[in-house]
Amino acid sequence: MKIFFAVFCILLLSLSVSANVDYSGHVVIRAIPETKDQLELFNDWFSQTSSFLDFWFPPSKVNKFVDIRVHPEWYNYVIETLTRMDINHKIHVANIGELVRQEQEIIALRRALYRGKAIDLENYHTYEEVMAYLADLANTNPIVSTKVGGTTAEGREIVQLIISTDLSANKPVEFFECNVHAREWITAATCIWIIDQITTGYGSDPEITDLVDKYDWKFVPIANPDGYAYTWSDDRLWRKNRVLTSNDTCRGVDINRNFPVGFGSPDGGSDSPCSTTYRGEGPLSELESNTIKDLIFADRGRIRSAISVHSYDQQWLSPYGYSTAYPLEYAEMYRVMEIGVNALTATYGTQYTYGSFANALYLGSGVTTDYYYEGEGILHSYTIELRDLGTYGFVLPPDQIVPTATETWNGIKAFVNAI
Ligand SMILES: [Zn+2]
Repeated sequence: MKIFFAVFCILLLSLSVSANVDYSGHVVIRAIPETKDQLELFNDWFSQTSSFLDFWFPPSKVNKFVDIRVHPEWYNYVIETLTRMDINHKIHVANIGELVRQEQEIIALRRALYRGKAIDLENYHTYEEVMAYLADLANTNPIVSTKVGGTTAEGREIVQLIISTDLSANKPVEFFECNVHAREWITAATCIWIIDQITTGYGSDPEITDLVDKYDWKFVPIANPDGYAYTWSDDRLWRKNRVLTSNDTCRGVDINRNFPVGFGSPDGGSDSPCSTTYRGEGPLSELESNTIKDLIFADRGRIRSAISVHSYDQQWLSPYGYSTAYPLEYAEMYRVMEIGVNALTATYGTQYTYGSFANALYLGSGVTTDYYYEGEGILHSYTIELRDLGTYGFVLPPDQIVPTATETWNGIKAFVNAI
C-alpha cells in the first residue's frame, strides 16, 4: 500500500510538472546593439532560435533594442557574451516563472468571484469560454451573428463574430483579426471588450450607433485556436499554431509569416521549423491563414479597414512589413494613423509610435497586413501592437485589459471616422 501511495504521489507530481512549462528562473534581457557587429550577433542568435533563446522582440537595426527570454542554462553564456562584446544590456523582466504564476493566481481569483457569469471582461478566458460567449451573443442579440471560417488541425473552429444591422445591405466592413500569435492574450481580450462595447452601446451610445448603422463590424477574436489552447494547457509563451513540421522535435508555423505577399524573403521570417517565426512549407500552407484569406475574400471590395491586433510595444503600423520601401498611399496612411494614435494617447497618456511596419518595428515577411493591402487592395490595413513596452511583455496582468482596450477602442473609433 505504501509503495502504491508513493508511486501515486510521484505520478501526481510528474503530472503537475509536465502540465505546464515552468519558466522559473527565466529572464528577459533587453540589449541595445550599437554597432553592426553587435547587431550581427543578435541576428545570428535569432536565426538559431531555440527554446533556450526566445526573442520577444527580435533584432532589427542598430540602436533599436532586442528583448530575449533566456533559459537559466544559457544565462551565463548570454551575459558573458554581451559583456565581452561591450553590448549595453539589462535584465528587463526578472523572473518570468513568477509573472506566469501571479497571472494564474489573479485569473483563478477573478474566476472564483465571477463564477456563473458568461464572461468577465476584466479577465483572460479559455478558447471554449470565448466561443461560448460569442455563441451566446449571437443567440441573444439581433444584430450579432457568427460565421465559422474554418477548422484547425486539432479540430477547433475559427469563428468570426459579425455585428450588422442588415447583412443584406452589404455595408462597408471594418475587419479585425486578433490573437494570431497565441501568447498575445491581451489581443483577444481587447477584441472581446470592443465587441462588448459595440453590442451594448448600439442604440444608446450615439457614436457607436452611428458606426454600426454605417458599417458592418467583423472580428476573429482568436485566429489561432490551437496555439491559444496550448498556451492555456501547456506553454503560456507559445506563439505559433501546433501543426507537425518536417522536424520531429519542433512544431508549429507562424501564421503571420505564412501569407503570400513577401513570403520567403530572407529576412522577416525563418525557414527553420524550430524558429518562433517559422513561415511554413509554402504560402497559405496553414488552415488558419487560409481561413483568414477566405474571410477577407468573402467581403472583397467591401473592406474599409483591416486590423491585425498584436502585442507588445505600443505601435500602430502600416504596410510594408516585408520591405522598408513605403507604400504609394503612405501619406494617407500616416494621416489616419496619427489621428488614431492621438485619440488613443489622449485617453490615458499611453505613448504609441506609428509608421511603416518594417521601418518602425522590424522586417516581417508574409504578414497579414501586407496581404490585406497588396493582395486584397485594402488601403487601410494596419498592425496594432498593444501594451506594454516590455515590463510584462506577453504576460500583461488582467488589470490592464480594460485600460488597454479602452484606449485602443478610442483610437480605432477616431481612425474609422477619419478614413
Ligand atoms: Zn504578434
